[in-house]
Amino acid sequence: MSQTLDTTLLIIGGGPGGYVAAIRAGQLGIPTVLVEGQALGGTCLNIGCIPSKALIHVAEQFHQTARFAGQSPLGISVDTPRLDIGQSVAWKDGIVDRLTTGVAALLKKHGVKVIHGWAKVLDGKQVEVDGQRIQCEHLLLATGSNSVELPMLPLGGPVISSTEALAPKALPKHLVVVGGGYIGLELGIAYRKLGAQVSVVEARERILPTYDSELTAPVAESLKKLGIALHLGHSVEGYESGCLLASDGQGGQLRLEADRVLVAVGRRPRTQGFNLECLDLKMNGAAIAIDERCQTSMRNVWAIGDVAGEPMLAHRAMAQGEMVAEIIAGKTRRFEPAAIAAVCFTDPEVVVAGKTPEQASQQGLDCIVAQFPFAANGRAMSLESKSGFVRVVARRDNHLIVGWQAVGVAVSELSTAFAQSLEMGARLEDVAGTIHAHPTLGEAVQEAALRALGHALHI
Ligand SMILES: Cc1cc2nc3c(=O)[nH]c(=O)nc-3n(C[C@H](O)[C@H](O)[C@H](O)COP(=O)(O)OP(=O)(O)OC[C@H]3O[C@@H](n4cnc5c(N)ncnc54)[C@H](O)[C@@H]3O)c2cc1C
Repeated sequence: MSQTLDTTLLIIGGGPGGYVAAIRAGQLGIPTVLVEGQALGGTCLNIGCIPSKALIHVAEQFHQTARFAGQSPLGISVDTPRLDIGQSVAWKDGIVDRLTTGVAALLKKHGVKVIHGWAKVLDGKQVEVDGQRIQCEHLLLATGSNSVELPMLPLGGPVISSTEALAPKALPKHLVVVGGGYIGLELGIAYRKLGAQVSVVEARERILPTYDSELTAPVAESLKKLGIALHLGHSVEGYESGCLLASDGQGGQLRLEADRVLVAVGRRPRTQGFNLECLDLKMNGAAIAIDERCQTSMRNVWAIGDVAGEPMLAHRAMAQGEMVAEIIAGKTRRFEPAAIAAVCFTDPEVVVAGKTPEQASQQGLDCIVAQFPFAANGRAMSLESKSGFVRVVARRDNHLIVGWQAVGVAVSELSTAFAQSLEMGARLEDVAGTIHAHPTLGEAVQEAALRALGHALHI
C-alpha cells in the first residue's frame, strides 16, 4: 500500500455539491482532496440538469422548424426539416465537455487535489481509493443519488433510465415513460418534439403530483396538444414481447407496444457500495440525516446534496457545499434558506418558490392569494404563448410574501426574482412598487402583487 495522504478536508463526490465545496474550501486556504469515481460535475453536468436542458432545446428547435414546414401564422416556411440525432447528441456532449473541463480548471486554480477513483470509507477520518489511504480532519459526503429502479422493469436493452435517454443513438418509434414527475415529463416532451410517439404511465391520478393541479393544468393541456398519451392511475407490471404492461388496480389492463421504455420514478440517495455503513450514521429515511449546518450525527462528518435527501436539486447542493466549506474555515453559518426555488422545464415551464396557498393555510397562515394570467401579458403574446399565470401568496396582516408559483413559457427565469423577494423578506408593496421593464414576462410578477393589493392595472 502507498503512503497515507493527509488533508484537512476530504470530499467524496465531484457533483455540484462536492465540487463547489472544494472550490470554496480552496479559496479559503483549506487543504482539500476531492475524490470522484466517474466524472467531475456529477449527475448535474454529465447526466442530469445540463444535458437534459440541451436536449430539450434541440427538441424545441426541431419542433418549431417542423411547425414551419406547414402553414405558420408567423409567415415563416421551411422545406422538410430533418434531424440528425447523432449530431444533436454530439452538440450536447460538447456543452457537457466544456462545463466539466471548466470545473477541473477551477479546482486546479484553487489548489484542490482531485483523485479519480471510487472512495471506500474506512472510518470517520479515513478513506481508501484504489489502495491509497487518505486521512482527513473533515469528511464531506457528497455522493449524490441514483435513479430508482423498478423490480418488475429491470434496466437493460429497451428499458432505460434518464442517463441512456439523454444519449440516444436513434429515436424510438414509441417511447413509454414510466413516471409523470418532472424528469419523465421533461424527457417525454423532448422525445415527442423530436418526433417519437410518447405515452406516459403514472401510478398516481395526476402528473407532477408534488404541484397543485391549477399549476399543472397548463402542462396537462400542452401534453394533450402535443399528442402525448397519459395513462394515470396505472401501475406498471412489466415489459414483455415489446409491450409495456400496466394495470389500474381494478381489473383494467393496459398493453402498450413500445420499442423503448424510460423508467423515471425518482431518485434515491447514494449511500451504498462504499462502506458508509461502517460509520453507523443516523439516517432520515433513505438519506443521511443532517443538522442545519449539514453535519451528520458524527462530528466533522458532513453530508450535502442529494445524499442528504430532498429537495434533490443542484442549486441546493451547491449552496450547502459552499456553506460547509465556510464552516470548516471557522465561519458561523446555518443552512436556513427562506426558499429553494424548483423548476420543471416542461412545456410550459413550472416554477415554485416558498409556500403554496395550501401549505400556507396548513401552517395556519391567513394569506391573500392572487394570480395574473399571461393571457394579459404582451411579452407572452409576442412569444406566441398565452397559457399560464404568476401567483403570489402573502400574509394578509403585513403583506409579507411567503410564496410564488408560475406556469408558462420561460418562467424558469422568474425563479430568481421569486427567490430574491422571499430571501429579502419583500412585501407586496415592494414588488408592486418596483418598476418592471416592459415588455417582459416579469411584469406579470408585479401585476400579481398589484392584484393582491386590489389594483392590478392590466386586468
Ligand atoms: C435527468 C435529470 C435532470 C435533472 N434536472 C435538474 C434541474 O433541471 N435542476 C436541478 O436543480 N436539478 C436537476 N437534477 C438533479 C441534480 O442533478 C441533482 O440534484 C444534483 O446533481 C445533486 O448534486 P450532488 O452533488 O448531491 O450529487 P451528484 O451530482 O449526483 O454527484 C455525486 C457524485 O459523487 C460520485 N460518487 C458517488 N459515490 C462515490 C464514491 N464512493 N467515490 C467517488 N465518487 C463517488 C458520483 O460519481 C457523482 O459524480 C436532475 C437530475 C436528473 C437525473
